[in-house]
Order: sequence, then C-alpha cells, then structure tokens
Amino acid sequence: MPELPEVETSRQGILPYLKEQTIQQIIVRQPKLRWPVDKAITHAQGQVILDVKRRAKYLLLQLPNNWIVIHLGMSGSLRILLNKQEPSKHDHVDLVLTNGVILRYTDPRRFGCWLWADSIDDVTQLKHLGPEPLSAEFSAEYLLEKAKRSHKPVKSWIMDNHIVVGVGNIYASESLFMARINPNRKVNSLQLIELENLVTAIKQVLAKSIEQGGTTLRDFLQSDGKPGYFAQQLQVYGRTGDKCQVCCNEIQSQKIGQRNTFYCINCQK
Ligand code: ZN
Repeated sequence: MPELPEVETSRQGILPYLKEQTIQQIIVRQPKLRWPVDKAITHAQGQVILDVKRRAKYLLLQLPNNWIVIHLGMSGSLRILLNKQEPSKHDHVDLVLTNGVILRYTDPRRFGCWLWADSIDDVTQLKHLGPEPLSAEFSAEYLLEKAKRSHKPVKSWIMDNHIVVGVGNIYASESLFMARINPNRKVNSLQLIELENLVTAIKQVLAKSIEQGGTTLRDFLQSDGKPGYFAQQLQVYGRTGDKCQVCCNEIQSQKIGQRNTFYCINCQK
C-alpha cells in the first residue's frame, strides 16, 4: 500500500509536469473506484492546474475553481506519459494536458479515488484528520495533551489518523524502536521526554523515506510507474529472530491491534 512518503514522492514526481498546465481532457474508463468518480469532473477540462498539494495520503490538484482529490488506495499508482500509449486493463483515468503530457492512473484493486470538489473544505475524507507529521504542529506537547485521554497501546495510537496522519505500520515499528519505547506501552503512561523522542523519531523516519523516494523520481517515466521504495534499512520491521543492531537481543514480533509489530524487548522499555 502506498504510504505517506510514496504519496509525497508521487507529488514531487508529477508536479513539474502538471503545474501551470491546462487540462485538455479527462478520460474516465472505470468510474467505479472506492467512491464513484463524479461526472462533474469533466468540468476540469479547460482549467489550469495551479498546484499539486498533499494532505495525509491524498493528492490535491488545485484548479482555479475546483479541486481534484486523488487517493492511491491499496494498489494505485500514477505515471507520466510523454507520448500516447494504449491503456491496459487497470488504467482507469487519464488526465490529458494541452502540452501532450498524460497523467495516467492505474489501480488493479480499485480502492483509490478521484474526487471532485468546489472547495477543499467540502471534502469529507479530509475532515477530522490529525496534523501532518512533518509540520511544527505535530509536537510532544500536542501529543501529551492528546495522550491524557487514551489507554491505547502507543503503537496503535500513533497509527490513528485522528492523532497524526501518515504513520503506517512499518513507520510505527521503526519510530518506536528509534525512540526506545515498547509498542505495548499505554499512551497515558508516556512522559514528555518520551513523547519528544517519539516525535523526533517519526519525523526522521518519514523524512528519510521521502528523501530516498526522491532519488527514484525518474521511475515515474518508466513503464510500471512504481518507484523503488523502502530501500532504506529497516531496523526492526520484518526482522523477527534477527539480532537487534543495538544490543544483539532477538527482535520479537507480536500482533497489536491486529497489526504485526516488531521490537526489541531489551531496548524498548
Ligand atoms: Zn536491542
């Protein structure tokens, strides 16, 4: 599933081809995505793309009068075509620009979406989301305030979009290891210093992943459109039974909130 760093990398990858370009045509071959594609999306034709933004894992195409909100779902990807290419079975949407560039959306499982909105404030999916993890708003003080009311294990809590967006399963395990916090810890038992370490770790892990995604941007012009993510070294995720790189204890795995969780029982208190 594309995670926040992949979506941000997608944004950076498509931005130079889309920004300040005019939409000539929008071709929807399959409107039955997670939510049906609104027929009104054809009103995008003739409008200029002012910017490509991101909120959580949604890409936001800003037009003068409207917004196109794209989510990649479980299996979606975007790629830039510089010449016409025959669409294949799962190529559901094309955004054709007047400069000849085509933004092609491919999604075999169709859990993604292309929403049409007059105002970004009207988009239900974007309401009630927590802060962006890389923003100043996401701080230890913010988490401490939220933590007072929760008895959840910290691992499940930081994966909750109402608390902070974009911390997927891999990033949650890796950040907790970096912050030396046991993933089972009850949220309201965490001290400010621990939350400071956790916030720093989440920001570092995500920023590093975005940076590494950036090095694969050229892949947007390749046939599969999937950049080579997760090249980064994972310290605990998926490493059950391996030696901890800090203390040489065995990495453990456990399900927390039905998600596989990896940690070092010795390093993470
Ligand atoms: Zn260890």
